[in-house]
Amino acid sequence: MRIILLGPPGAGKGTQSERIVARYGIPQLSTGDMLRAAVAAGTPVGLQAKAVMESGGLVSDAIVVGIVADRIEEADAKAGFILDGFPRTVEQAEALDAMLSDKGIALDTVVEFVVDENALVGRIAKRAEETAARGQPVRKDDTPEVFKTRLEAYRKQTAPLSDYYAGGGLLQTIDGMKPVDAVTEHLVSVLDRHAATVAS
Ligand code: AMP
Repeated sequence: MRIILLGPPGAGKGTQSERIVARYGIPQLSTGDMLRAAVAAGTPVGLQAKAVMESGGLVSDAIVVGIVADRIEEADAKAGFILDGFPRTVEQAEALDAMLSDKGIALDTVVEFVVDENALVGRIAKRAEETAARGQPVRKDDTPEVFKTRLEAYRKQTAPLSDYYAGGGLLQTIDGMKPVDAVTEHLVSVLDRHAATVAS
C-alpha cells in the first residue's frame, strides 16, 4: 500500500504513521526525519537544508525530491510506504507522480488530517515540553515563532494539494482533532476499506 498522510505541522501525521507501520508492514518515510538526520550528520544536503529548516521555510523541491527518489528504491519500500511530510508542494506531487509512473506503480490513497489550526500552536508547545521532559533535544523549529512560519508555508504551498489529490479521486479526510486512539481507529478503517476494495 502506498499512502500519503497530508495535514499541517502538528496535525499528528508522524504519530499516526508510527502507529500503523507494523499493521501494514510498510515503512514511514518522513522527509522531515530524513532532513534532520542529514543536518545532524553534516552531509551536503544537511548543510543546505539547515538554515531554511530552522527558519520554518521549505527546503527546495530538488533536494527533497532527490531524497525521496533514493529512499523509495530501498528494499523495505518495495511493497509500499507511508509518506509523511511529502509532498509539500504541487511540484513535489507532480515529481512523485512521474517517479511512480516510471516504475509502473501508483498511489493508493491520500489521507488528509483536518485540524483546527488555532489548536496546533498549543499541541506543538506540548510536544516540545514532553520531548524536553524525556531529556531529548527539542526541535529548533518547534518554537511558537517558527511554528507560525511553518503554518504559513503549509497554507500557501501545501494546502493546494488537497484539491490536487481530490481531483485525482485519491483524497480521503479524517478528523485530526479527535483523541489519538480515535484518529488511529479512523485511519485504519479508511485504509482497510481501501485495501478491501482493491482486493475485491
Ligand atoms: P516536518 O518534520 O515534516 O515538520 O518537517 C520539518 C522541516 O523540514 C520543514 O519545516 C521543512 O523545512 C523541511 N521539510 C520536510 N519535508 C519537506 C518537504 N517535503 N519539502 C520541503 N521541505 C521539507
